[in-house]
Amino acid sequence: MNIAEMPTKIDEDIREKFRRSGYTLTSQRRAVLEALGETSGHPSAEDVYLIVKKKNPRVALGTVYQALSVLEDIGIISSKRWSESPIRYDVNTKPHLDIRCIRCGEVSEIPGVDLGGLKSRIQGSTPYEVTSASLVVEGICPACQKNL
Ligand SMILES: [Zn+2]
Repeated sequence: MNIAEMPTKIDEDIREKFRRSGYTLTSQRRAVLEALGETSGHPSAEDVYLIVKKKNPRVALGTVYQALSVLEDIGIISSKRWSESPIRYDVNTKPHLDIRCIRCGEVSEIPGVDLGGLKSRIQGSTPYEVTSASLVVEGICPACQKNL
């Protein structure tokens, strides 16, 4: 096996998650994964589609949506929804905080905020069984602040 064929660590993780889920790692799903790897930040399905399309001109947007939803199901990516924005996908599935600029739409991570236990802290205040909890943070980025 030469270097180029050696599976990377992330590849092994992904393969393992597919194995456990019962889903198949199809070529379309792999193409979507590769496209996600080429993006920086938090692409929408549309963004991912445009990247996949460069290499696979015949791919359909619906196929990309389906692949993204499978990847989210398996826990390889997570999705976030801000107001007035399509769902954004994130390859970082660990609990972390992202902020989105309400003017230009740029998304960036906020380091150093501990979100651990958010779910259980909320659980203490509701008779509902909390199945998920996320925080939507919006603001105005430094570049847009200059142009106010
Ligand atoms: Zn901005």
